[in-house]
Amino acid sequence: MSDCLFCRIAAGEIPADIVYQDEKVVAFRDINPKAEVHLLLIPREHVDSLNAVTPAHDELLGYMLRLTAKLAREQGLADGYRTIINTGPGGGQVIFHLHLHLLGGKGLPGFE
Ligand code: AMP
Ligand code: ZN
Repeated sequence: MSDCLFCRIAAGEIPADIVYQDEKVVAFRDINPKAEVHLLLIPREHVDSLNAVTPAHDELLGYMLRLTAKLAREQGLADGYRTIINTGPGGGQVIFHLHLHLLGGKGLPGFE
């Protein structure tokens, strides 16, 4: 069993509020939302962070970005949204399984 929280969510071993999943990615609601809509998109494949991405991931990353726009539309974020990928401790990354934050709606924070 993996000790990575997001691998375990992707495997269905830990519950999450999943809004979308397919063979490549899973999207679920952040447990501590920073805005009205706050989703996390993860690849099923364990990748530590953006720093661990290789050319073999190019298609996966393009797919994740395109899916982000689709999920934003489905979440009613017609006016726009913000995407964030925290990388490394200095970038505020806490969970070392690559994930993209999709934030939008009321309460969207600005940059400090
Ligand atoms: P980061 O700081 O980019 O690593 O973000 C990690 C995010 O994961 C934070 O926004 C947390 O609120 C979120 N998080 C942690 N545990 C869970 C969980 N079990 N289900 C959903 N989101 C989580
Ligand atoms: Zn993982």
